[in-house]
Amino acid sequence: MKKVVFVDRDGTIIREPAGKQIDSLEKLEFIPGIIRGLKLLVDSGFTLVMVSNQDGLGTKQYPQKAFALVQKKILSLLEGEEITFEKIVICPHLRTENCRCRKPKTGLVESYMKKHAIDRGHSFVLGDRLTDVEFANNLGVHAIRLTRRNDPRAKYVTPDVFDACSFIARFARMASFTRTTSETTIAVNVTLDGAGKYEIATGIGFFDHMLEQLARHSRMDVTIHARGDLHIDEHHTVEDTGIVLGKTIREALGRKKGIQRFAFAAPLDEALAEVSIDLSGRSYVSFDCKFIRERVGEMPTELVEDFFRGFADGLGATMHIRCSGRNDHHKIEAIFKSVAVALRSAVHIDSRTRSFLPSTKGLL
Ligand SMILES: [Mg+2]
Repeated sequence: MKKVVFVDRDGTIIREPAGKQIDSLEKLEFIPGIIRGLKLLVDSGFTLVMVSNQDGLGTKQYPQKAFALVQKKILSLLEGEEITFEKIVICPHLRTENCRCRKPKTGLVESYMKKHAIDRGHSFVLGDRLTDVEFANNLGVHAIRLTRRNDPRAKYVTPDVFDACSFIARFARMASFTRTTSETTIAVNVTLDGAGKYEIATGIGFFDHMLEQLARHSRMDVTIHARGDLHIDEHHTVEDTGIVLGKTIREALGRKKGIQRFAFAAPLDEALAEVSIDLSGRSYVSFDCKFIRERVGEMPTELVEDFFRGFADGLGATMHIRCSGRNDHHKIEAIFKSVAVALRSAVHIDSRTRSFLPSTKGLL
């Protein structure tokens, strides 16, 4: 599904001289931070749509030609920075005309919304006015308002447009995924730049405990609700949870620009686990750990490897996992903690290389 930012023009991309038309190049001035901000949104996997009210466009007071001159300049400058809009829609009417398209009404984007599968939970309106916030509410997406004032109806309020775009980019690294088969129903929600909060219920106590370790030590916020055919055994539930969790993290990674990609971890209990991860887009697992017990709690120990095979498949990751030790509970816990710490590094965005994909192939 597409994550979209509907961007207002006047007062958001360019300065709006006290409610006046920007009908000549002399009046054209970009808002500081907007170019960096829009680039960040594009690099974070967002599709941009420009939505603007231009009062009386096409009249003698505001000729189409004057608008087109300014608009063309804006678009060509942004294009030079690899910032493009998938769609641009303009309402030319006055408030008094009571048209269907003037923001906060949604007439301008109705056909766009119908044509594309939009992830409304991860889409935004970015604008400076109350009508932009109302427009977001009418579309069912989040509102980000550029103002010094308070606006409780907006998801985030700031006068700084780059700060606004940074907020959206952080928020973007979230994903939800639900998978239902004849054997299991698994619903997962992941926020990569979280605080390690979790809500996990798979019906297998020890497995829940391990997934909580994964969330806490990776600093991702993770919600997992799994209902599986536990009356048969634990296998489908554990493996499918791995697949869906991996897929959800992959989705949240977006285009993977700026991520560290590689990570290594080797924390110690009495058990030593060593984990290396490469978010390469390809799935491979080397698992080297011998368990003595058949189960820890309700969880068969052989399913630890199956979980990580499913996880790597869903995530598109290469994982090397080795663990030695005496106590099987400790060994499994050391593995989950190590994977968590490695993941935390691998998904981390390095601000120096934010717009680069860590691959010479240009694809991950
Ligand atoms: Mg505006």
